[in-house]
Amino acid sequence: MGAGTSLTISRIPTFTLMKIYGKQTVTEPMAAMSRSGRYVHSYIITGAKGCGKKTAAAYIAQMLLCSDIHDGVPCGTCRECRRIEAQTHPDVILVEKSKTSFSVSDMRHIVTDAYTSPNDCDRKVYIAADCDGWSDAAQAAMLKVTEDPPDPVYFIFTGADLSVFLPTLISRSMTIGITEDRDACVSFLRDRYPDKAEDELLRAAEAFSGNIGRCTELLDGDEKLIDLVDRARRTASALAAHDEYTAAVMLAGIKDRGAFKELLGMLTAIVRDAAAGKTGSAPVSCDAKDASKLSSLPYDRLMMIYDRLAHGMELCGTYCNLEALSAMLTGQIFG
Ligand SMILES: [Zn+2]
Repeated sequence: MGAGTSLTISRIPTFTLMKIYGKQTVTEPMAAMSRSGRYVHSYIITGAKGCGKKTAAAYIAQMLLCSDIHDGVPCGTCRECRRIEAQTHPDVILVEKSKTSFSVSDMRHIVTDAYTSPNDCDRKVYIAADCDGWSDAAQAAMLKVTEDPPDPVYFIFTGADLSVFLPTLISRSMTIGITEDRDACVSFLRDRYPDKAEDELLRAAEAFSGNIGRCTELLDGDEKLIDLVDRARRTASALAAHDEYTAAVMLAGIKDRGAFKELLGMLTAIVRDAAAGKTGSAPVSCDAKDASKLSSLPYDRLMMIYDRLAHGMELCGTYCNLEALSAMLTGQIFG
């Protein structure tokens, strides 16, 4: 990196080399490009929070810098691979935000830096993670350099979905959607938590629809998340038992808008799967045990509850009062 810039290397989540769980949307195109000997210079990775976008970005960086690729897979043991895993590679630059999202000036720093030579390798990789909320002007600052990038330079952008990015940037990039994969998630959790009971791992994977990041937070003991999962399960039981009081207490106890929306999301998934079970469809995600609790409720009632909860999630995005919203939902569901 050139002297005098404000770019610094930040932390990339640790990932297990050689074993990238369920990310075929990343590994397969990268393997194909490796065989052809030509890599795309700009990548856009999209997916929900916790699904592994930064891990996928680090994998791409390894593909680009590994000195010993075999069968389209980075070796994991060469100096470059090890430094990427240790998050100390000077040519893998995780761009920092000067504000809550990338500013025009953050992007101009990258553009200036991109025209300096790599430190150690013949390629260098910029990772701009979580681009959500960046302005059109900030990404417009990247258009010229992504249209005609210096030969050694590669860019990786990540965001919740493609709507975050300008069509022009999308057209110049390879887009990679990361979806949650429950089986891959369970496989990851077994490796990461060898001492935990299988049932606990399966329930975590189900509660978060195979989202590795959220499962890890839960199993690492994130108290807020444990509380939300517990509330979702107790509310589901209360719905099955027509226990309005408990449901009201569970919903009313959340003060944070994002947490409340997440709770409604978990409940919606449980109710959706209970309804799917009624029609003989396979559950989509969520916790089968919780969904089975609701199987005593008629299909129409489940669909009504589902609609109310989904509407409640939409209202979380507005400025309505959370206490009023939880009271309204309880009233609608039990009324
Ligand atoms: Zn390597």
